[in-house]
Amino acid sequence: MVTAKARAVGGPDQSFHATEITRRELDVHDVLIEIKYAGICHSDIHTAHGEWGPVHYPLVPGHEIAGIVTDIGSEVSKYQVGDRVGVGCMVDSCGTCANCQKGEEQYCLNGNVPTYAGVDKYGEPTQGGYSSHIVVTEEFVVRIPDNIELDAAAPLLCAGITTYSPLHHWGAAPGKQVAVVGMGGLGHMAVQIAHAMGAEVTVLSQTLSKKEDGLQLGADHYYATNDEDTFKTLAGQFDLIINTVSASINLDAYFSLLTLDGTLVNVGAPGEPLSLNVMSLIGHRRSFAGSMIGGIRETQEMLDFCAEHNIAPKIEVISADRIDEAYERVLASDVKYRFVIDTSTL
Ligand code: NAP
Ligand code: ZN
Repeated sequence: MVTAKARAVGGPDQSFHATEITRRELDVHDVLIEIKYAGICHSDIHTAHGEWGPVHYPLVPGHEIAGIVTDIGSEVSKYQVGDRVGVGCMVDSCGTCANCQKGEEQYCLNGNVPTYAGVDKYGEPTQGGYSSHIVVTEEFVVRIPDNIELDAAAPLLCAGITTYSPLHHWGAAPGKQVAVVGMGGLGHMAVQIAHAMGAEVTVLSQTLSKKEDGLQLGADHYYATNDEDTFKTLAGQFDLIINTVSASINLDAYFSLLTLDGTLVNVGAPGEPLSLNVMSLIGHRRSFAGSMIGGIRETQEMLDFCAEHNIAPKIEVISADRIDEAYERVLASDVKYRFVIDTSTL
């Protein structure tokens, strides 16, 4: 058993406090990771605030984990002590259902085990990456390519894969018009990845305040959604829209931007239901879809893709005592573009 330092939240309205948690004894296929950096995803905030339903407190969030292997179980074959590794939003799944067999463990028919706010196969609540160590079965650990710094690697484990997967699935490529709604943690990754896949990329942000960054990250066009003309100018243009917004938006207005057979994929996951007028879809055979992170094999593929294309998130590294402040700033869309906790400050 390893005792790990951690930052936990005791309830939906409470601030973070320093604590210690225990990580299980290594099973034969387990890897012990010394966490170096943990990204702050908006999902951490939804969960910590109880917006996605009741959770077990105290809760240690964090599913954008980058660190170093410091011990391995007796039958581990993929990793050695000293390897640079990452862990994302899930730490286990059944491995036998049809979806796991396809490498889509995030859609495990028996339910994947989330990195935090879940229950593992030993019946213990899972606790996430705002901590110094974690124990994970080797099948749910990925390798961080040498040319990606560990602090920049962390956000790829959720923001990176959550945008790579739908862009790949829905065919972002040369000749395709892709729009990204929201220039936050996920959005600024979507821009870089869609651009590297060869698509023509448009950012739809609330204002033009981050336009320069968007263009520098690879966007071809940048529009403000608080300007009604935007929706007239761009009507019927996009093959694919990736909506990363963490709150409700007027979906019908965005459907009107899709071309014939275009698809709007929601990766943003607000706690409240979204409403839509089906006529917005019927009119031009449009689709509305959702997508959740990506499988383990695809996560490794995404990391290798980012390494090859020199793609990395823009991050602000913070000490652990600034998590509450970081949450407030994410809620105010005041982050460029991902907070990453330096876990040496726990
Ligand atoms: P984030 O950094 O806060 O980015 C969200 C962006 O949405 C903001 O930067 C802002 O962009 C825009 N936005 C926020 N409030 C808005 C509003 N009221 N109206 C219009 N636009 C608004 O959050 P994130 O970490 O990227 O996560 C985004 C969402 O994806 C969250 O709901 C999160 O839970 C979800 N998520 C889903 C998955 C999945 O597997 N599907 C995985 C990870 C995260 P602008 O300032 O550019 O307008
Ligand atoms: Zn996340």
